[in-house]
Amino acid sequence: MTPDPPTLLGCSAVIFLLLGVHFILSELPGRRWARIIWYAAPFLLGSLSGLFFIIPTLLPGLWALRLGALSMTLAYGAGWQALRVMLGCQVQLPVLLLACSASFLLSILAGPTGLLHVVSTGFRLAVIAAFHIFAARDLQQNVRIMTPARRSLLRLLRIYAGFHLFLVPFVLWMPAPLGAAPATVWAVTSYNFLAVIEVALFALAMIAIPWEQLAFQQQELILQDPLSGGSNRRAFQAWLDNDQKVCTHEALLMVDIDHFKSINDAHGHAVGDQIITAMGRVCADILYPTTILFRIGGDEFVVVFQCDSPDEMLATAEHLKKAFATETRMIGGGAVMATLSIGAALCPGIGIPRTELLARADSALYAAKQTGRDRVVHFPWAEEAVSSALTSKGSGDS
Ligand code: GH3
Ligand code: MG
Repeated sequence: MTPDPPTLLGCSAVIFLLLGVHFILSELPGRRWARIIWYAAPFLLGSLSGLFFIIPTLLPGLWALRLGALSMTLAYGAGWQALRVMLGCQVQLPVLLLACSASFLLSILAGPTGLLHVVSTGFRLAVIAAFHIFAARDLQQNVRIMTPARRSLLRLLRIYAGFHLFLVPFVLWMPAPLGAAPATVWAVTSYNFLAVIEVALFALAMIAIPWEQLAFQQQELILQDPLSGGSNRRAFQAWLDNDQKVCTHEALLMVDIDHFKSINDAHGHAVGDQIITAMGRVCADILYPTTILFRIGGDEFVVVFQCDSPDEMLATAEHLKKAFATETRMIGGGAVMATLSIGAALCPGIGIPRTELLARADSALYAAKQTGRDRVVHFPWAEEAVSSALTSKGSGDS
């Protein structure tokens, strides 16, 4: 049975209309008007375009077909704007209107056949391709994490940009609506089929992406420590479990605030909290962006970073210790003296399990506490530091 183009177009127009109504109804409670308009616009314009193509006699001459083509171009441009609104960007109305007006003007100047008709059709396909390219660029540039739905949408936009660009050189020979040659049933059917697939997948992505974003934000909150702004114990456990072997240039600092309980007792918990917050601030200020800060206990932190040599690691640890003392000096009206004890361990070239690296840094921290606090101890020196501290304590006692 031969497919009937008006029936096909009619079905598509109804699908687009329903999707447009869906977005109006689902966005209405939020009363964000720009969102409601831009989310619904691509689908409603697509539906309007279908109406003009189904009933070309709706208007005299070629006007219905021209307006159908204009609505279709506007629908793609509105899809790009809807994506921008979803990404929190300003709509780019001038670009949209300029490109669509130019395309419409060309279609007015062109007749049903001839060179200008070919140019007008090619121009419309290029404009639609450009809207897809702009949308893909915006999507890529304006998201922090490429979630699965965003990745699928990016792929969809690229495929359809490529498809429309591919049609441009063949516009003279391709039957409408794929090109400027007289329309054929297969061309109408296939273009309509592809448009329905794109619109349905686009709508799905527009529904999925905000949910996905919410899920990622919640995931981040679950793994974040609210006081220091670093990652929490749960994230630390995941980091430990994540990899059996550490990479060869990883340094781990076990950091503990000295006499924190006494600070709390003397100045109150609020001051103690400010000190923990200061620790997060100092790490964010002085350490590399790739450094990870975990708060693994009340006043215990783990700092992990890429590092090439023990000297570099110890210099970083000393820098952290000094910066923390400076940053916390003014807390509590300048009455607090907060210092850090730090145990440092560097992963050897052969690589060791992260749990082993942690145990080494922990024993170095123990040595730092045993030998007087407010200091950095490197793992290989830990035992030596403790035994010499015990010896000197013993000789001092005798
Ligand atoms: P040391 O020098 O040996 O590390 O002694 P310390 O007093 O720092 O160690 P201890 O483990 O005895 O005390 C840790 C304190 O941290 C006890 C607890 O009241 C405090 N603490 C834990 N979580 C928080 C928090 O979220 N805010 C505040 N202000 N204090 C906290
Ligand atoms: Mg402590």
